[in-house]
Amino acid sequence: MEEVKKPRVKIEKSNPSLQRIESRCINCGMCMQTCENIVGLDHTNEKENHPLCINCGQCIMNCPVGALCTKYDYKKVLNILNDTDKLVSVSLAPAVRVALGAEFGLEDGTNLEKYIPDLLRKLGFDYVFDITFGADVTIMEEASELVNRLTSKEKLPMFTSCCPSWVKYASMFHKELVPNLSTAKSPIGMQSTLIKTYFKEMNEIDKDIISVVIAPCTAKKYEIENTDTDYILTTSEFAMMLRECEIDTDNLKESEFDKLLSRGSKSGLMFGRSGGVMESALNYAYFLMTGKNPKEGMFHMDIDNPITTKTYKIGNKNIDIAVVYGMKNLEELLKEKDNYDFIEVMNCPLGCVGGGGQPLIPIQKLDESRKERLNSLNSDANEILYCYQNPEIIDLYKSYIGKPLNDKAHKLLHTNYNNLPKK
Ligand code: SF4
Repeated sequence: MEEVKKPRVKIEKSNPSLQRIESRCINCGMCMQTCENIVGLDHTNEKENHPLCINCGQCIMNCPVGALCTKYDYKKVLNILNDTDKLVSVSLAPAVRVALGAEFGLEDGTNLEKYIPDLLRKLGFDYVFDITFGADVTIMEEASELVNRLTSKEKLPMFTSCCPSWVKYASMFHKELVPNLSTAKSPIGMQSTLIKTYFKEMNEIDKDIISVVIAPCTAKKYEIENTDTDYILTTSEFAMMLRECEIDTDNLKESEFDKLLSRGSKSGLMFGRSGGVMESALNYAYFLMTGKNPKEGMFHMDIDNPITTKTYKIGNKNIDIAVVYGMKNLEELLKEKDNYDFIEVMNCPLGCVGGGGQPLIPIQKLDESRKERLNSLNSDANEILYCYQNPEIIDLYKSYIGKPLNDKAHKLLHTNYNNLPKK
């Protein structure tokens, strides 16, 4: 009987995030089904020479035979690490620490934060940082922007902008919404810029620093083109490096991230899951608008559904918010977007804990794994709850930036979306 070939997603050679190993592909069409039904891209009018892709990697997670995988960059990074002349920093994104263990037989959701800095130093990185710091800076800027827009009533609803798949989707299908995106760079964007400016200047380093980031996300490989981040490696690539360099992962040793851009607040860590950016922004907006600290858990989002909507009172203002993941769900929400002041959009199920660069696990266990990772992030015991209470963030603004949204902040920490792709 002749083999039935189902429609597959097309992947261009130049795609910075994804590749297909043709010899493994069984033409089952799961990639197309995932892209249309889980992600929500409409391929009906796709042009042969210009395939639609928002680089999220959900097709990788749902390919039953491992024919789709990320574009690997880890060998390039290993080569650079072997070049003793270069200074190389690495920064760890929030959702990686609760997923890496699945690569080494640990229960999914096991938080390896305390052990990862030592593993990274053993790989040869010169500086080991935590992106939760960059996430705290993002909130300082983004919440300030939100308060300004609520006051001026301009460019509302404001949309979060730290998910590159969403930003690319907006530029392809909803150009009219681009002015409503927060102009704050993503945490990764802010972190790399601050490594190459603030960290370098404060430590009087005169050599160039290469900025590598380990992320749960394949779309970040697309986001970093023309930015201060040099390489993005996924959680899976991190595991490959550890194996290839024969780093001992059985006897883990505790150690700390390097200082000046070290661990952020609990708010910063919550960027690794859906609802986290919203909570963090509301917490700082509350402080800015009332001068008081929010009570812990005041803006906690229960993400039982892909769309969550609420009204919060801050001082005498009601703020209508929505949190959504998946572009298909977003399209539903956009029908009533004018009802909201602030909307958080993530592409992947449950946010970055479910990113396309996370470890490959059996498809039937994906839901459970994402929930375990999300619960693990939620149970973080950091005593610094909010970005504005983080002593290193206070120092950064006092000694270097000045104030959120000033000229220096705009130059270093914001973007103008001039280089977004058209459809
Ligand atoms: Fe990347 Fe997170 Fe967006 Fe997924 S939700 S595409 S992991 S930023």
